[in-house]
Amino acid sequence: MFPLTDQTPVFPALKYSSPDEGSFRLPSSEWKLMLSTATANLSMQQVITQEFKAHGWNAAWTDYDNENAADLRIVTAEGLSLEENEKLSRLAVPGQSYVLTVREEGARIAALTEIGALYGVVTFLQLAAKAANGLVAGQVIVDGPDVEKRVISPTLTWYAGYARAGFGMQLWNGERWKEFIDWCLRHKVNALNVVMYGFWPFEFPEYPETVLKQLPVQTWNEETGQWMEVSFTHPNLLEPFLSDLIRYANERGIDIYAYIGLNSYSGGYAVRHPEMRAVLSEELKQAGHVNNYDSLCTSKPEVRNYLIASVKRIEELGFNGLVFEESEEVQWFCQCEDCQRAYGHLPPNEAKHQVSVDLLKEYIKVLNPDTLIGVRWLREPPIVKEVSRLTYWAEQLPERVQLFWTPGLEDDDREFIKWVNIFGRERIYSRNCEGSGFAASLGRIPYLLPDTFPEELRNYAFQHLRNDIAQFQGAANAGCKGINGYGFEWYGHELYFAATAQYGWNSHALDQEEFLTAASRHMFGKELGSVYERIIRTLPCIHETQICAELPSFPFMPNKYIGQEGRLYLERCLYYAEEAAALLEYMLSRDLTKFQRECAQATFLMASRMQAVSQAGIAYNQYLEVRETNPQDRATAAHFADLALAAAEEDYRIIKINYFDSKEHQWTGVAIGEYYIPMVINEYRKRFASDLGEEYAPRKEPAYIVGGESLPWEWLLEWGPKIAAAKPLAALGQLLPDREG
Ligand SMILES: [Zn+2]
Repeated sequence: MFPLTDQTPVFPALKYSSPDEGSFRLPSSEWKLMLSTATANLSMQQVITQEFKAHGWNAAWTDYDNENAADLRIVTAEGLSLEENEKLSRLAVPGQSYVLTVREEGARIAALTEIGALYGVVTFLQLAAKAANGLVAGQVIVDGPDVEKRVISPTLTWYAGYARAGFGMQLWNGERWKEFIDWCLRHKVNALNVVMYGFWPFEFPEYPETVLKQLPVQTWNEETGQWMEVSFTHPNLLEPFLSDLIRYANERGIDIYAYIGLNSYSGGYAVRHPEMRAVLSEELKQAGHVNNYDSLCTSKPEVRNYLIASVKRIEELGFNGLVFEESEEVQWFCQCEDCQRAYGHLPPNEAKHQVSVDLLKEYIKVLNPDTLIGVRWLREPPIVKEVSRLTYWAEQLPERVQLFWTPGLEDDDREFIKWVNIFGRERIYSRNCEGSGFAASLGRIPYLLPDTFPEELRNYAFQHLRNDIAQFQGAANAGCKGINGYGFEWYGHELYFAATAQYGWNSHALDQEEFLTAASRHMFGKELGSVYERIIRTLPCIHETQICAELPSFPFMPNKYIGQEGRLYLERCLYYAEEAAALLEYMLSRDLTKFQRECAQATFLMASRMQAVSQAGIAYNQYLEVRETNPQDRATAAHFADLALAAAEEDYRIIKINYFDSKEHQWTGVAIGEYYIPMVINEYRKRFASDLGEEYAPRKEPAYIVGGESLPWEWLLEWGPKIAAAKPLAALGQLLPDREG
């Protein structure tokens, strides 16, 4: 287990640290800082001063000299000693590494580059902030990352104007985003791959109809107890902050990429110009297909012009790169004459890949040579692909394009290593680590650990923190360029962010149990950290479709909690959800920082929702038991029916007062809801109405669940258990690429 010393260790965990004589006393007033003149850089000095200030300390720079004392001396490039140079050259990424020496007379940071030095400052400030009695123990730290790019994908917009309007961090203004950038620097994360799906969150004068301005949203008004239609404009359109934010991040060594659809949910264009969408044949319509991925017909010159203008506009805002996502769900391809002539001879997925390559080539023509271009593609089944097909597509893909998706643990990591061999390790920035992104399909509940499930059910669920970590470790072992963790939600999801930070920096310092302990302590301190760890280790994660036998199964979590065994399991969940809520109330009664309070409040909300869903499922099971054992007893059955409906967040009871954007949306012509509970309630009502009478009649048109996003993944029903049982051979170091990349 993790050594539980009084001192909370530095996070992410350090590579090498050895004690040295004496200890350094923090200055009583202003800190005296020196930066070697060879590389003195004004913006870097400002960043360091601001970091000191954020910790409550004033710091002033004085000219570098070896005679006078300094509290912190920063030396880069030619100022390094031979020994320091040698220590740094042995690390995986010398350019981001540092040597930090703490002695009685002051601290010294030696690094090859400014960014390496900045990471040294980040570590030193953590040590200083945690110093007992104002003393930092003498020590020598040699530290640096395992992986060059440690990327997190947060959301700026997500299906905005399609299935959703915006929630959580998507509603942040520029100042709030800067606080998050500070979080990234302090955790040594060095790139964000910011999702922009749906109406654009920035001004686009050529296509003003495609931006996220004045969209109608139904939001709940607690005072009057009614839904209100309000109009929503993205904060960046009210007070533009993106370009300034990117500059702010770049000054801290953090790149900002735009993560957008290659040809799906690309701005509001498909909503405003439905005639430009990919065309369905009558035959396909009859077969029940809809254009639910909102792809456009790329044979139309208007569409090409629009997509190219969008890409140029995004680069103009200052983004350091663009990462394109090819939709993985295509079952048919545009049936218009031009598309059929160009691609009709290919199966739909191959046609889609060809269009992706064609579009990427066009984008390359208009983008600056130093703008990173990435792609997430070839993600559809079959999960295990023929070497010849992968090789073919690797040859088609322009060399400049980097891979922001490679397989997860499928086939015991063999599929991942196959991709590394074919595409090259230098080109791979990411795997299928979607633990936090997956929360969208769970109505914003984070699925952290499979441990909360009974042994026999764990096999089904695999998009969780543990698998993300195993993928990060595998990527580091395989020598990949980067890792990319999903951080689609902030509130209550900080552990996902922390996992990317830890396993990109130091992928084998902490095993999974040690990580949970260390990250919880890092987030909440020694005492409350252990309380938080208890909560995340026991808080259940139930998908709402699991308490309803009639609804289609959610492919990641297909087992239903119906019947006696299901009820017993739900009772256990209820116990842990209630315990978590009580522990969180205790945490919330204490002095917490802003981030700690946000996390605890969001987790309390999750515990409340898990209580509600457990109670509803238990009451429904009790209803079924009464109907079976004593069908004449209408009163008892009605009692459990009422209990189930009351508990089941009828009319969005809990979510509507806590989330801005909770009601189903109609913009695309299909009502799509973020939350499954209305469907569950409706199925319950159908059953109650047929047994007990019309007073339980279902609504005529319940909101659709987010079927467009996750329910078509039926292939997961077959592959889910296999993936869940897959061995992380790359993480274990038992399977590595064939050749040097
Ligand atoms: Zn077409």
